Amino acid sequence: MKFEKLNLPSEGKRITGSEGGLKVPSEPIIPFIEGDGIGPDIWAAARRVMDAAVVKAYGGKRRVHWFEIYAGGKARDKYGDWLPQDTLEAIRHYTVAIKGPLTTPIGGGFRSLNVTIRQELNLYACIRPVRYFEGVPSPVKRPQDVDLTIFRENTEDVYAGIEWREGTEKCRRVIDFLNKEMGCSVPADSGIGVKPMSVKASKQLARKAIRYAIERKKPSVTLVHKGNIMKFTEGAFKEWGYQVAKEEFPEYTVTEEEAAKLPGGAPASKVVVKDRIADSMFQQILLRPQDYSVVATPNLNGDYLSDAAVAQVGGLGLAPGANVGDFMAVFEATHGTAPAYAGQDKVNPGSLILSGAMMFEYLGWLESAALIVDGIGAAIKERRVTYDLARLMDGATTVKCSEFGDAIIAKIEAAG
Ligand code: NAD
Repeated sequence: MKFEKLNLPSEGKRITGSEGGLKVPSEPIIPFIEGDGIGPDIWAAARRVMDAAVVKAYGGKRRVHWFEIYAGGKARDKYGDWLPQDTLEAIRHYTVAIKGPLTTPIGGGFRSLNVTIRQELNLYACIRPVRYFEGVPSPVKRPQDVDLTIFRENTEDVYAGIEWREGTEKCRRVIDFLNKEMGCSVPADSGIGVKPMSVKASKQLARKAIRYAIERKKPSVTLVHKGNIMKFTEGAFKEWGYQVAKEEFPEYTVTEEEAAKLPGGAPASKVVVKDRIADSMFQQILLRPQDYSVVATPNLNGDYLSDAAVAQVGGLGLAPGANVGDFMAVFEATHGTAPAYAGQDKVNPGSLILSGAMMFEYLGWLESAALIVDGIGAAIKERRVTYDLARLMDGATTVKCSEFGDAIIAKIEAAG
């Protein structure tokens, strides 16, 4: 593989994906994008934590060879381009990558670099695990009951960008078509947006969520939709989700309705597939979070729901995420570049560190993933945390971004 301006690590092999699954060598090359703003601060801490977890878990038997690739401000300086082809090619070739936050350039034709990366690489599932760490301030009474993994469809729905501004010629033509040919009565002074939801995109998202639940022995997958109102988009999403469960995973799944008729309820060996209407789901995650585990949902519901769920467990500083396609995956901090804090070694690196744990889980390096999750939990329990958490916790000591990383590494090294 030849790149225009990238320096390949001298050792390591590529991760590949094919019908047989993901193939991970013991010394994979993993591309990383440091990111803008606070990106370099959190990346420095996250990289050290990830390396420490791999050393602790596998001695010298496994090792990541990090490979810097560029997007955002660093790419603009190096290539004159916010998102160079080298970067997309490197992710395609090496299959799994991790990134810090990126500035959304003003003008230049980009909606956002993140959206462009997702679309170019067809990373159709946005995955957000939402779990609670003891000691983190939360607005609810029992945040420990929240343990959700949200699969949000990443490519269509109202995010397809099909919109016409009120008063424009195109908008008038669409309204005319709707009113004259489709029997609608849309007011002439409307703006119009279109919400496409396809069988393919809906099913591939549901498939990924169900497979994840089966592989990790999760109790349920909930299809969250607004199908009572939008029958042929959101309602169809629900139906297609049930179809995937029934047709592709019959031996591993049971619907909630079927389980209710069984004498002993759902067999423990099966994943219960159920659905909830989106508005009710916002109540459910507050009132009965313990009843939900994996969630599969269209783009807009997923956008709202993931932020609401993350707020329940203490906010964005500790929320990891990934954008995943068939095999390709980009793990990322879910917050932005927090430019006011750039270069101050001050902010919370937790989101990127936990994205690293998620990445290791994806690679099947479960031991290093668990060390990171436990390490961060133990560091928080000691109340030596970055300012964002410290200001909300009683008796906490504020530490720098790098010191929080050190505290996690100390816990990893001390693990039994
Ligand atoms: P932001 O997430 O950067 O900041 C929101 C608030 O959260 C700020 O008060 C910030 O100081 C705080 N914050 C963010 N990360 C933190 C951390 N790790 N520790 C402690 N506090 C933290 O969102 P914004 O201000 O809306 O956006 C700034 C830039 O980031 C914009 O250019 C935006 O487009 C971009 N952005 C990128 C991503 C991404 O790359 N995934 C996501 C969101 C926003």
